Amino acid sequence: MTLIAVRADTESGALTASALECVQEARELADAIGGGVHVLLPGHGVAGLVDELAAYGADAITVIEHESLYQFSGHGWLAALEPVLKTLAPTLFLAPDTSHVRAWLPRLTVRWRVPLVTGCVQVKSSATGQIEVIRPTYSGARHERLVFPATASVLVTLIPGARGLGASHSGRHAEVTRLMPDLNPAAFCDRTVERLPPDPHTVDISEAERIVAGGLGVGGPEGMELIGKLADRLGAAVGGTRVVVDRGWLPFERQIGTTGKTVAPRLYLALGISGASQHTSGMTGSETVIAVNTDRTAPMVGLADLGIVGDLHQVIPALLAELEKLT
Ligand code: FAD
Repeated sequence: MTLIAVRADTESGALTASALECVQEARELADAIGGGVHVLLPGHGVAGLVDELAAYGADAITVIEHESLYQFSGHGWLAALEPVLKTLAPTLFLAPDTSHVRAWLPRLTVRWRVPLVTGCVQVKSSATGQIEVIRPTYSGARHERLVFPATASVLVTLIPGARGLGASHSGRHAEVTRLMPDLNPAAFCDRTVERLPPDPHTVDISEAERIVAGGLGVGGPEGMELIGKLADRLGAAVGGTRVVVDRGWLPFERQIGTTGKTVAPRLYLALGISGASQHTSGMTGSETVIAVNTDRTAPMVGLADLGIVGDLHQVIPALLAELEKLT
């Protein structure tokens, strides 16, 4: 049986959406090729999260408990995970494509001399039963397809939000093993000293919690300034469509969509954006979407949790005035 291992990330004691996406992706692949999903859950005080992992598709879970694993340390996480992974010897190891994972997974690929494929959007079974990995290339203008034999040993990272989180099944159960490794944090060559809240102006939008995005409907650079004011007020990052970036109203690293970034914020405010598939493919992992558009038939209004039909040049000042009353 093919074994797929997944590394589950936690944030403030909860499983991240990107970790659960990896579990679901692994589940679908395991079902397609006839395999099992084994989730590794390192941390401190995380044992209560196993039911949620089972509900998203884990067959087995190894909880790796140590107080030093509460905070990020690339060296510490590698020390905790490597022996377990060695014993499991999975065909595929899947982890979210985050800066934390990127800090330790390359060390494993060098030590084990196995392939590492980063920044993927999909892992699936090929027509011939092999493992097929899809990832964007040339800044998203193309997708490349890599195929590995189902007996290979390969490490893959999945872009957060790329697949979106599906429904869980609360009746599922997983076999749980608890390990308490003997780690020596004093010997870790890196450790977390302090956690600083991200600056919405400079944060990578793929990691932003809130995004205020503008489309052609903003009308010009002045409209983008209005978007920026609202973003500042909400502690959100600014993003936009390709049309806006092509006009030079926003830098390329703020573009969302197939040829831009994939984002998965808790709040996505789409202002003057029609909702073309090349744009929405980059933001479907958003938790709550609010759209402001003069056209009630715009696809973005249909996709949004809340659609406001109106001129953004009137809606934004009204919204700012309401927010002002809250302070
Ligand atoms: P429009 O489609 O023109 O929509 C503007 C919207 O603003 C309309 O719905 C209109 O009703 C509304 N509006 C107008 N005035 C107001 C107002 N005053 N108040 C409120 N609403 C108003 N696009 C991306 O975004 N990201 C990508 O990565 C991307 N990659 C692409 C790759 C390829 C190969 C191709 C061919 C296209 C790609 N595109 C991408 C472009 C995409 O197809 C759309 O053209 C683009 O997303 C549309 O941007 P928009 O919504 O800003 O503009």
